[in-house]
Amino acid sequence: MVRLGLICEYLESLAPARLSAEWDNVGLLAGDYDAEVQRVMTCLTMTADTVAEAIERQADLVVVHHPLPFKPLVRITTDSPEGRYLLDLLGAQIHLFSPHTAWDSAAGGINQKLAEGIGLSNIAPLVPNEGDPDVGEGRWGEVSGGAQVAEIAKRVKEFLRVPQIRAVGNPERKIERLAVGCGSAATFMAAAKDCGCELLLTGEATFHHCLAAEATGIELLLAGHFASEQFAMQALADALADRFTELDIWCSETERDPIQPI
Ligand SMILES: [Zn+2]
Repeated sequence: MVRLGLICEYLESLAPARLSAEWDNVGLLAGDYDAEVQRVMTCLTMTADTVAEAIERQADLVVVHHPLPFKPLVRITTDSPEGRYLLDLLGAQIHLFSPHTAWDSAAGGINQKLAEGIGLSNIAPLVPNEGDPDVGEGRWGEVSGGAQVAEIAKRVKEFLRVPQIRAVGNPERKIERLAVGCGSAATFMAAAKDCGCELLLTGEATFHHCLAAEATGIELLLAGHFASEQFAMQALADALADRFTELDIWCSETERDPIQPI
């Protein structure tokens, strides 16, 4: 057993809250720092499936990337799915910690792992943090020797283990500099262009962001919000397991992308 406060300190060292976006809600969102923890699950989002898994497998702590709660709550009732999840989780004495944008931006966080995973070199933050410019939002880097968009798409599919991703622009264009932003990061297009990138890899983008990409001459690769972030929940479980060898830690096995081909 490990005191929850000690696990929170370690998670804070992996994903420092000072790196999180201003609008975000990160850290311990429900819990008692003095509670003893034995079983920890990581997952991307609390859903009916992940809540049920956490309860069935008797987790004491869930490290869930997307915050629950996210917005201020004035009531916790079964009127909303979030209220239901919180009632069920807290009823089972399961604590909740969310690293979210702090983990996106951290030194070993999602965007760094994504940039490394597709083989970029000279990786740097796309929007450096004001207090700590070595880290920050998104990443960009160089594609050694250059590669066509289609070749980069192949690397993305291999790394994220997805059969299909989507593209906006010209699949034959040669790319030398590439930006990455997990989740919904189409707004990084301007920063990507400022860094001299020809391509932005993100999870999802609106139709209008796709049109803006075409109009401004930046290629987009859309890997899916789920795929662009979920791989890093296993990495988080591995990091916790290395640090706390006495704990039982797993990455959710029931979580799936709600968007499926038909
Ligand atoms: Zn996300």
